Amino acid sequence: MKKDSTLGEGLANFVDEATIRDEMARAENPSKGLINEILLKAREKQGLDPDEAAALLKNTDRELDEAIFETAIAIKKAIYGNRLVVFAPLYITNECANQCKYCGFKATNKELDRRTLSPEEIRREVEVLEDLGHKRLLLVYGEHPTLGADWIAETVRDVYAVTSAKSGEIRRVNINCAPLDVEGFRTLHEVGIGTYQCFQETYHRPTYEKLHIAGRKTDFLWRLHAMHRAQEAGIDDVGMGALFGLYDTTYEVLGLLHHARQLERDWGVGPHTISFPRLEPALNADIAYNPPYPTTDHEFKKIVAVLRLAVPYTGLILTTRENAEFRRELLEVGVSQLSGGSRTYPGAYADPEYDRPDVQQFCVGDSRSLDEVIQSIAGDHGYVPSWCTACYRLGRTGEHFMELAKTGFIQKFCLPNGLLTFKEYLEDYASEETRRIGEELIRREVENYPDPDRKSLLTDRLARMEAGERDLYL
Ligand code: SAM
Ligand code: SF4
Repeated sequence: MKKDSTLGEGLANFVDEATIRDEMARAENPSKGLINEILLKAREKQGLDPDEAAALLKNTDRELDEAIFETAIAIKKAIYGNRLVVFAPLYITNECANQCKYCGFKATNKELDRRTLSPEEIRREVEVLEDLGHKRLLLVYGEHPTLGADWIAETVRDVYAVTSAKSGEIRRVNINCAPLDVEGFRTLHEVGIGTYQCFQETYHRPTYEKLHIAGRKTDFLWRLHAMHRAQEAGIDDVGMGALFGLYDTTYEVLGLLHHARQLERDWGVGPHTISFPRLEPALNADIAYNPPYPTTDHEFKKIVAVLRLAVPYTGLILTTRENAEFRRELLEVGVSQLSGGSRTYPGAYADPEYDRPDVQQFCVGDSRSLDEVIQSIAGDHGYVPSWCTACYRLGRTGEHFMELAKTGFIQKFCLPNGLLTFKEYLEDYASEETRRIGEELIRREVENYPDPDRKSLLTDRLARMEAGERDLYL
């Protein structure tokens, strides 16, 4: 039996430092002609090579940066329309045996109040979330030897089992936990998780090794192959990410793209989602207050835009780490999923004295309630918030989802289904003002819906919703 810290021994490092350095060097000082050529290619919605993504990231001409943003806005609109998937994170445990220098949950943080939710506490949290209108949750866990795959699976069952008075139920549970072995992932697959999410943090191995100094997470290759093992276990929606601020921005984006390509090569399907958290202050984590590679807002917006062009069919996830004002700009250039009303410690949603720095993982930048977030995205920006889980429940995942996404399916199914879940939200959970704004948006969307047959299906189901039916989709 291998020791924990050497589980990844012998695995290939498909994110090769020399290759990325070459790509970065070749991309220096790109010409205006090259950038325009790449943007033309991006408009074909076939994605970009790492070399091309690098050139866009290395461009310093502000006017051309604006052209990059405009292209990303166009691609986002063409593929996703004005629909935005909404979810909330639910922290299950902050127990952790690892020592990631940037995280408040690290084992050496003695000031952190350690909590692991009991089944009863999970029920209370989920009831609060359901009463707010959530249907999709991301469960988050620290990594601890006593809290393995069987226990994680149990917590997923606990979440799915909760139904609240107003027909509330969680319809898709995604997971962000430490990498498991294939057997462990199979256990999670069997309890019906949606996406398995795990961030590499940094693709630069020497930096990774400097920042992860104890516990199983020291093993770079074991983590790098997590998505492969999840696929092997049958989980075909996987979500990757990098934590921005730890290392060079361009390097990390190229790392993500190489990782995505390898998944495509080996499993026929790239990541379902990519996340790009930026370092936030966290209790007793100096590096989180002074990121070694601080990412400016402009650079961050470019990361989102370039990812949108490079992997057009991959969901891009934005969390409440970013503040409300800036989140708006990021939505425009590429984000397709966002969290709302998030709280980042175990027990936070049912906590009457919410806001405890001594238990949370990091500080949130957008502390608005879910209703406020929905009101603003629908009212100020005309986005349709969606809690749709139809594809996952009908088995349209992984490769099948990607194929469908490429044929205009998102407009055909996702938008009407999004509108139906929005209607459900307005009926059951919204404040008066949000309902007024939302009804108006739904009316406009139905009016402009191009396909008359689907329009009549949609109108019929909206009326049935109003009459009290729930959970309808196409
Ligand atoms: N423990 C598991 C792991 O490390 O993979 C999963 C849970 S961990 C709480 C989820 C993610 O939070 C990490 O992958 C990391 O990217 C992010 N994170 C940790 N510290 C952070 C900080 N100070 N600011 C922003 N994000 C942070
Ligand atoms: Fe633990 Fe994950 Fe935080 Fe690292 S990032 S200390 S593994 S919770």
